[in-house]
Amino acid sequence: MKIDCDIIKDLLPLYVDGVCSQKSKEMIEKHINECPLCKEELKLMHQELPFNPIEKNLNEAESVKKISKEWKKGMFKSLIEGILITCVFALILFIFFDIKIS
Ligand SMILES: [Zn+2]
Repeated sequence: MKIDCDIIKDLLPLYVDGVCSQKSKEMIEKHINECPLCKEELKLMHQELPFNPIEKNLNEAESVKKISKEWKKGMFKSLIEGILITCVFALILFIFFDIKIS
């Protein structure tokens, strides 16, 4: 039977805390040996211990994703804004000097 990665990920915090049943433990270990993704997940959880691994992992993963997304968006936005401001500024200068000259 192929176990779904989502189920394993749900069980991983219990496994890390050592509170899951023996059967779950065996199932997780078996899956991890075959699934590099969940293995990586488990490794991360071990690093993040000991405080509330479920919530912490979720929150951190989510916020890192969010931050990098926002950051990319912000970079692009400020780049566009910078170009626009430069253009407007150049235009103002151009008009200003044009009026002064004539
Ligand atoms: Zn998996």
